[in-house]
Amino acid sequence: MIAPEVANTAASGIRAVANAAWARPDANHLEFGEPDFDTPAHIVEAADRAARDGHTRYGPSVGLPALRDAVTVKLARDNALNSGQVVVTAGGVGALFATYRTLLSPGDEILVPDPGWPNFGTIATLLGAVPRGYRLVEKDNHTPDYDHLATLTSPRTKAIVTNSPSNPVGYQWTAAQMAEIGEWAARHNLVVISDECYDQLWLDKPAPSFAAAAPGVPSVTVFSLSKSYAMTGWRVGYAVTTPELAAGLARVQEVTASCVNTIAQHAAVAALTGDQHCVAVMRTAYRERRDVALAAAQRLGLPATRPAGAFYLWLTVPGAQDDGFARRLLDETGTAAAPGTAFGPAGAGHLRLSLAAATDNVVRGLTDVRSLLAE
Ligand code: PLP
Repeated sequence: MIAPEVANTAASGIRAVANAAWARPDANHLEFGEPDFDTPAHIVEAADRAARDGHTRYGPSVGLPALRDAVTVKLARDNALNSGQVVVTAGGVGALFATYRTLLSPGDEILVPDPGWPNFGTIATLLGAVPRGYRLVEKDNHTPDYDHLATLTSPRTKAIVTNSPSNPVGYQWTAAQMAEIGEWAARHNLVVISDECYDQLWLDKPAPSFAAAAPGVPSVTVFSLSKSYAMTGWRVGYAVTTPELAAGLARVQEVTASCVNTIAQHAAVAALTGDQHCVAVMRTAYRERRDVALAAAQRLGLPATRPAGAFYLWLTVPGAQDDGFARRLLDETGTAAAPGTAFGPAGAGHLRLSLAAATDNVVRGLTDVRSLLAE
C-alpha cells in the first residue's frame, strides 16, 4: 500500500532517542537542535498584530512582498548578497524539499556531506532519488575529500549539498574553501545547494555565504529563521537562487503548500527588520556554552571538535559505533544525545550533544558519557 520511496525513507535516529527520552521525566535533553530561548517578544507581538489586523488569508506562493523585501535587505546586511530571487518557504526544510523536487527526477543522484544533517539524504530518498554521502577531510577544516567526490559523481548526479556552519560537526568554511567547491561543482555541471540555516550562529567570526564567495556558480542558498531567532515552530525559511530555479521552487510550493503561514510571515518581517540585538545575545550565550562544554570535555578526557558555528558538540566516542551507546547513555544515566550514526556512516564513533541547553545540563551530559565509558 505504501509507495516504496516512502517505505525506504529511514526514520530519524535522533527522533528514536527523543521518543525514548520523552518517556522519562528526568531526561537530560541534549538530542535536538532546538534553541532553548523563547521567540523574542517583538516578533510574537507582530504575529499577534497581524492576526488581529486580518492578515489571515492566502498569500503569494513565493512569499509576501514585505517579507521578500525584508529578506533582500537582510541578505545585503548580513551575507554580502546583493542579487538573487527570494522564495519564502516552510523553514529550511521546506526550501530544501522544493529545491530537491525542482532539480531531481527519480533515479537522479545528489551528493550530501557525511556526516551531515539526516534530511539531506532522506528528502532525496523520498523523491526516489539517490543520496551519495561524500567524506570530509577533518584536517582541512572538514572540506570535501575531492578524490572521493570524483568516485561518487556520475552522469545522473545533479547537485551537491554543502552546509556551513554545519550540523552536526560545527565547522565553518572560509570564502576561499567555498569558492573551491564552487569551481569543482561548475566543472561537473552541478548545482550547489548551500544550507546556511546557521548563518547567524557563527561563534568566532561571521560566516561567509556561498553565493557571495562563488558568484556565477548555479546555486540555491537555504536560510531559516528557526535557529537565529528561536522560531523553530513558526516554520519560516527562504531560498535565494536564480530566476529560473526560483520559478521551479515556486511551482513546487504552489502545489504542495499554496503559501507559507501568513501570520508567521508577518512575524518574520519583524524578526528581520527589527533590532538584531536578540540574535547577538543568543550568539553570545551559545559561545559561552561552547567554551564551558569544551573545557568540561577536556577535563573529562573526552575528545571533541571545537565548533566554529551552530550549537552542537561533536564528541569522539570510539565505543559508539552504532546507536547502542546513545541508547545505553539514556537508559543508564538519563542523558539523551544524538547518535553519530544518525548523520551518516562517517558519524560512527561519535555522539552529538546540543549546546542549546543550560550549561549545567551540558556538563552533566558530558559527565554521564564519561561515567558510561568508565563502566
Ligand atoms: N538545515 C540544517 C543543517 C538543520 O540542522 C536544520 C534543523 O535542524 C534545518 C536545515 C531545518 O530547520 P528548519 O526547517 O526549522 O528551518
